[in-house]
Amino acid sequence: MRYDFQIMPNRMDREFFSHQKEYEEAALRVLRSGWYVLGENVKRFEEEFAQYLGTAYCVGVASGLDALWIAFRALGIKNEDEVIVQGNTYIASVMGISINGATPVFVEPDEYYNIDTSRIEEKITEKTKAILVVHLYGQAADMSSVMKIAKKHKLYIVEDCAQAHGACWNGKKVGTFGDIGCFSFYPSKNLGAYGDGGAIVTNNKEIRDFIHMFRNYGSEKRYYNKVVGANSRLDEIQAAMLRIKLKYIEEITCEKRRIASKYLTELDNGIIMLPDVRPNSDSVWHQFVIRCNKREELSKYLADNNIGTIIHYPVPPHQSEAYQYLKIEKGSLPITEKYADSVLSIPIYTGMLEEEQKYVIDKINAF
Ligand SMILES: *Cc1c(COP(=O)(O)O)cnc(C)c1O
Repeated sequence: MRYDFQIMPNRMDREFFSHQKEYEEAALRVLRSGWYVLGENVKRFEEEFAQYLGTAYCVGVASGLDALWIAFRALGIKNEDEVIVQGNTYIASVMGISINGATPVFVEPDEYYNIDTSRIEEKITEKTKAILVVHLYGQAADMSSVMKIAKKHKLYIVEDCAQAHGACWNGKKVGTFGDIGCFSFYPSKNLGAYGDGGAIVTNNKEIRDFIHMFRNYGSEKRYYNKVVGANSRLDEIQAAMLRIKLKYIEEITCEKRRIASKYLTELDNGIIMLPDVRPNSDSVWHQFVIRCNKREELSKYLADNNIGTIIHYPVPPHQSEAYQYLKIEKGSLPITEKYADSVLSIPIYTGMLEEEQKYVIDKINAF
């Protein structure tokens, strides 16, 4: 294994090299098979991923963003509708809503970076159709409270699980609580492919059938199109890679949990705030996010010491150029904005060496 003293914020090669032969042989099998899109591997992966999560159906699509917008399309969310989402999410969550013409309505996050469920009801109007719950950074949101609110107000629940493959709330995997769970297999995710990919999961056969048809130009029977659909198909190479990685997902998660718990016990610097672990929630630690009021100095200091960091995310969606049309003023989501100004993700990845972890800890503690 290559080791140099440049520690990247995330790296995707270590997991590949630890099962290199298996990935390469499976990729070659697909290349030699003569069948490259929506085949046996996709079908098998859909079954295996559904079984892993404990949900009835899974449909592979081309990306996490596609999973999101197609999920809202399947639920009939459109112009004039409102969908509630936390303010501090990746912009793809919000685009999944607005691509359908619906309006995202932002709610402040709680201290665990998930939606603050005590602030959802004040945002519900007669136009509200759904809540999009994002299990940000790998930590499950408080699904008991969310489900209670959804039931009371008859709202759909969509879960954005792009960062939370296998994360649990009260022992039940995220993506299986709401009407639809949306996953991304972008290479940097815990269950990452070697290119783009995504999936939706559901227990509802009608939703499954709609999305299964919609992703392939709205057709089940070739050249007989029922609706104006999309080209959002998972390819065979990615599905074959994902079938292998899915076998190791518990290993990947355990390793991230070990690194996170080492960080939680050994990071010790009064100037940084460590992430809080929510009771009843089993994080899969997609990111390890600290907060620091001197973030720019800290990230520059770490960069000078060959430690890469990332900000997830510097511009909250309501302040991004893309959403200026919503006319939400700066200062209207103070917690969201405070987080955007102070969060910093430090290195955590599969195959992170002990000496790399120790180096990161020592450098942060010495800041
Ligand atoms: C990565 C991500 C997405 C989008 O997934 P893509 O596969 O990149 O389209 C959506 N939501 C969240 C929270 C993400 O982290």
